[in-house]
Amino acid sequence: MTTFRVPFMRLVPGEDRPAIDAAIRRVVERGWYVLGPEVEAFERSFAAACGAAHAVGVGTGTDAIAIILRGLGLGPGDEVITTPVSAAYTALACMMAGATPVFADIDPRRLTISPSAIEAAITPRTAAILPVHLYGQPADMRAIMAIARARGLAVIEDCCQSHLATCEGRPVGSSGVAAAYSFYPTKNLGALGDGGAITTNDAGLAERMKRIRNGGQTDRYHHGEMGVNSRLDEMQAAILSARLPLLAGWTAARRARAATYRQLLAATGLEVPPECDAGHVYHLFPILSPRRDQLQAALRADGIETLIHYPVPIPRQPALEALSPAVCPEADRVCAQVLSLPLYPGMSEADLRAVAGAIRRLTA
Ligand SMILES: *Cc1c(COP(=O)(O)O)cnc(C)c1O
Repeated sequence: MTTFRVPFMRLVPGEDRPAIDAAIRRVVERGWYVLGPEVEAFERSFAAACGAAHAVGVGTGTDAIAIILRGLGLGPGDEVITTPVSAAYTALACMMAGATPVFADIDPRRLTISPSAIEAAITPRTAAILPVHLYGQPADMRAIMAIARARGLAVIEDCCQSHLATCEGRPVGSSGVAAAYSFYPTKNLGALGDGGAITTNDAGLAERMKRIRNGGQTDRYHHGEMGVNSRLDEMQAAILSARLPLLAGWTAARRARAATYRQLLAATGLEVPPECDAGHVYHLFPILSPRRDQLQAALRADGIETLIHYPVPIPRQPALEALSPAVCPEADRVCAQVLSLPLYPGMSEADLRAVAGAIRRLTA
């Protein structure tokens, strides 16, 4: 394992350590580990933080998407239009629910799903649109909602990279019928393990999804419909409750570091995707370079860790090759050129300048 002088991120708790230790102790002393008071409390506070009426804690962000689709009664025969540039889990979740992901290319500026490409991908089988607020940048929800309303389609928002983001001042996740969140440790709000949540303003849908996450049980040992086993556990819920009050500050720290990168990289001629909405929460800070692989190798040699989100457009993944091929040239270009620079709330100014300085030397 290489050790980097500037790691991509650090996952050992810092300022949140005392609150996390107290949360873990509380759960262990109570002796209640699945679907209990911690999950209920976190669901309430997370819904409030997202500007939603209800939240449902689930096992992962992937499950969150699949459970929303099931909750809406979508499955085999239904097409879900989504983006080719995301964690592949976005599309895998559609397939877990039995639905068919259909890929609409991305907007080359925003790097989120292109509204005109959505229009072109609509068929009589289209049931839903699944935009992803990729890298923390909100998708163009105004245009997406206009299409959905005109065509009678459901909108499900993948907010796994966009905790607390806003789109034209409105919380992400509040335009569509429901939104999926992941608390995978690297996300803007991360657990110390897997976790996920769904937010919605629809009380009936929330109740149904609570049943689905718990085996479809209507009552203990009575399974009214076919559900899954996907529950946020008490330990993770308690940890997330400890961290949630810090999230706004962490988001501000991400934005400040992104602004510094923009300033320091302005003279390099590298393509830095624009901030299309002030509500961007900078889950990642990607740059684009036609010489991406050489740049990454040179940074690695200089002790700077970078990652690629994502090297392969989802429709080009072997796991999805049975689907009809999608033509997404913008996705192909971005996946060939994109490189995520280190960025996390506790990242020091010195590390930020070291990364920008190395890139400036390498691109001079
Ligand atoms: C992380 C992520 C997921 C999957 O979340 P898990 O909790 O890992 O299942 C889905 N979509 C996007 C955009 C993600 O970043």
